[in-house]
Amino acid sequence: MSFINEEMIRERVNEFIDRSKELGIKVTPQRIAIYKELASTDQHPSTETIYKKIKDYYPNISLTTVYRTLETFEKLGLISVVNVLYNAARYDANLTPHNHIVCIECKKVEDIYDESLSTLDVSDKTLGDYHIKGYSILLNGVCKDCRDS
Ligand SMILES: [Zn+2]
Ligand SMILES: [Zn+2]
Repeated sequence: MSFINEEMIRERVNEFIDRSKELGIKVTPQRIAIYKELASTDQHPSTETIYKKIKDYYPNISLTTVYRTLETFEKLGLISVVNVLYNAARYDANLTPHNHIVCIECKKVEDIYDESLSTLDVSDKTLGDYHIKGYSILLNGVCKDCRDS
């Protein structure tokens, strides 16, 4: 089930280009291609998954380049990283606040929009050495496909 259409992808890419220019980073066709790959899916792909797709039209690109590019995007706040428990970082072009659920069997990561997960009032609180800016919840479960098989 995907909510992403051509229109949204175009909007995300345009926004990405504008933001990159504001931030003063180079907007190369290769960078746009990597971003677009991520912006075209709500599957929260890993570096490897994006790399495999990009290789179709940039056969000389290396996994390291894709890795570094995604890392740069993340540091600049152009994308976010979903921390899953299975080592490989998974990325997200959707910067609207939302939570995630990961299937413990097939490692699929999906978005969750549920009011009950957004009621913790932690903003502007200080916990330990930290000033809290927000939170996200990562739920674990077994998806329908895995339960059925
Ligand atoms: Zn599953
Ligand atoms: Zn997400």
